[in-house]
Amino acid sequence: MVKLPTPYSKTRKAVFLDRDGVINRNLNNYVQSIDDVHIIPRSLQAIANLTKSEYAIVIVTNQSAIGRRLMTPEIAQQINKFILDKIQSTKGVIDGIYVCPHHPKKHCNCRKPKPGMLIQASIELNLDLEKSWLIGDAITDIQAAIAAKANPILVATGRGADQANDLDNNKLAHVPFVKDLYDAANYILGHT
Ligand SMILES: [Mg+2]
Ligand SMILES: [Zn+2]
Repeated sequence: MVKLPTPYSKTRKAVFLDRDGVINRNLNNYVQSIDDVHIIPRSLQAIANLTKSEYAIVIVTNQSAIGRRLMTPEIAQQINKFILDKIQSTKGVIDGIYVCPHHPKKHCNCRKPKPGMLIQASIELNLDLEKSWLIGDAITDIQAAIAAKANPILVATGRGADQANDLDNNKLAHVPFVKDLYDAANYILGHT
């Protein structure tokens, strides 16, 4: 007998990834060109490992350099394509990429720590946020995950080693803190 799937059976779990400081290096003056993209060691391998799992992989990135007029949306797209090509060449598959282009003064709903990008992705890609994770290098990533009811992990790459000192002050001492995306992926895959 064939069982018809319930609507819930279609819902996927996801791993959300911040981009700068998690996949590629964070720069003080923003990543503004392809020349600014420096892939963090082991991050592509981590994405390949996650790709083999049941998780969808979704990038959620604040790119206020667009709103600050330091970079055009077209350049931002080129940078994303450059990173996606690298991911693909190492057998990684990204299911979606969401960009907040806004200046912080716009007070939009998508700029992390707001959960807008995660919520939009959950609707468009049919994701179960409560069973999903977000890997980021900033307290604002962690706050976006919590606001979306997803599970956060802080990595020490990018701004993470500094930001970890503020976990306690933000009542986030319980948040897992690991070395890098590779260890974060292993943490998630060990918990499923
Ligand atoms: Mg970051
Ligand atoms: Zn925004």
